[in-house]
Amino acid sequence: MNTEEKLFLKPKTLKEALEFTASNRDGFKYIAGGTDLLVNKYQGNIDTGCLVDLTGIDELKQFSVKDNLIYIPALTKLSELKDNIYIKENFPALIKAADSVASPLVRNTATLGGNLLCENRCLYYNQSEWWREAVGYCLKCNGDICIVTGTGKACYSEFVSDTAPVLISMNAKIEVADISGTNILNLEDIYTGDGVNPVNLSKTSIIKSIVLPMDKGYRTIFKKLRQRESLDYTSLSIAVTTDNSGNVVICMSGVDPKPVVVSGNNHIDYEAMCKEAIKNSRSVDNDMLSRKYRKEMIKIYLQQCYDELFG
Ligand SMILES: Cc1cc2nc3c(=O)[nH]c(=O)nc-3n(C[C@H](O)[C@H](O)[C@H](O)COP(=O)(O)OP(=O)(O)OC[C@H]3O[C@@H](n4cnc5c(N)ncnc54)[C@H](O)[C@@H]3O)c2cc1C
Ligand code: SF4
Repeated sequence: MNTEEKLFLKPKTLKEALEFTASNRDGFKYIAGGTDLLVNKYQGNIDTGCLVDLTGIDELKQFSVKDNLIYIPALTKLSELKDNIYIKENFPALIKAADSVASPLVRNTATLGGNLLCENRCLYYNQSEWWREAVGYCLKCNGDICIVTGTGKACYSEFVSDTAPVLISMNAKIEVADISGTNILNLEDIYTGDGVNPVNLSKTSIIKSIVLPMDKGYRTIFKKLRQRESLDYTSLSIAVTTDNSGNVVICMSGVDPKPVVVSGNNHIDYEAMCKEAIKNSRSVDNDMLSRKYRKEMIKIYLQQCYDELFG
């Protein structure tokens, strides 16, 4: 069987999915809720080849708790997170972040795994094919220049996942299955910072679950800036987490091609951490809200997070 013969495949097991994709490496894309992938496909931003639908695989739906670790299956719908008693009690900020994504209709389809891998965005990229052709293709769609910066050096498309900042600030890991077996990776490490290829997972890898420790006493504040309070993608999402030992982690999306992460041992260091977070965010004017305004809002949100956590 090859991808030329198939446009759609719905495997029932991980093994079946991985055996197919390992032997058809170039012409396929995994699909879960499809709320990100299909929009990009119909705008002509990606060529999917055969769609390999993950939603028939039970191994991607199994929630478990072992040794104080919670395993949230990748196919968990964003709207389902709030029904899970462990998540509700231990990680309420994850529910808040998931509830800030898109609209209720989208959240009933969109999955947590898909949210971690949703494509980076840019005002000059998320347009129709004819729009991009008229303006001139940029680095992210096989052109040779970034329209925002006017140079060919780098793409600064924004990393926009809302759940990733909360998860990374709580040191989340992911279970990743591939044809050679299953590995546990730090979620933060899969993001490259390159706006053209923002994720470094192998093309055939499947996220099985998201793993969080329940014994750290995490307390997290999540804030999101966007034009309208519903539907809009983020222009800045911030999560600040502290734990039993007083460690503090700041993680932001919407202001760089990857999550911006700054850690400290104590909230006494917070001012310096905020300065570093602002310095490290490579935002450019490719969002509905200006770069200058978003930088200002980082300062304000970080202060609000501090007041709510330690004030
Ligand atoms: C109107 C609208 C508004 C939106 N607003 C927001 C927003 O505010 N915040 C936000 O974060 N997102 C937003 N989104 C994007 C999207 O809905 C979410 O990111 C959603 O969680 C993606 O999940 P999905 O299951 O639909 O992913 P899909 O579209 O199915 O997949 C996304 C990517 O992940 C890959 N993938 C999916 N699951 C796996 C897996 N288990 N293993 C390996 N690869 C996998 C796919 O191949 C694809 O590359 C919005 C989308 C729309 C249409
Ligand atoms: S930041 Fe530049 S290269 Fe990247 S998508 Fe936008 S215009 Fe294209």
